[in-house]
Amino acid sequence: MSWTQPACEEAARLMSQQRDEPLGRWQRLRLRWHLVRCGDCREVERQLAQIRSAAAQWLSGDEAGAQPPGTNM
Ligand SMILES: [Zn+2]
Repeated sequence: MSWTQPACEEAARLMSQQRDEPLGRWQRLRLRWHLVRCGDCREVERQLAQIRSAAAQWLSGDEAGAQPPGTNM
């Protein structure tokens, strides 16, 4: 993965920021635009989304049948 571009660092920062709080319109636009051009960051975002949804399922589902995130990929 290439983290050398400042734009990628910013995208990573925005992606981690949006886990905690909604991004502003301009920030979302910058992130979207970067993801359109950068496959590395798209992959990172895809994995983050998978982890998020797996974690949400795990937290909200019945614990008896649920698997920890990451075991059923
Ligand atoms: Zn990038």
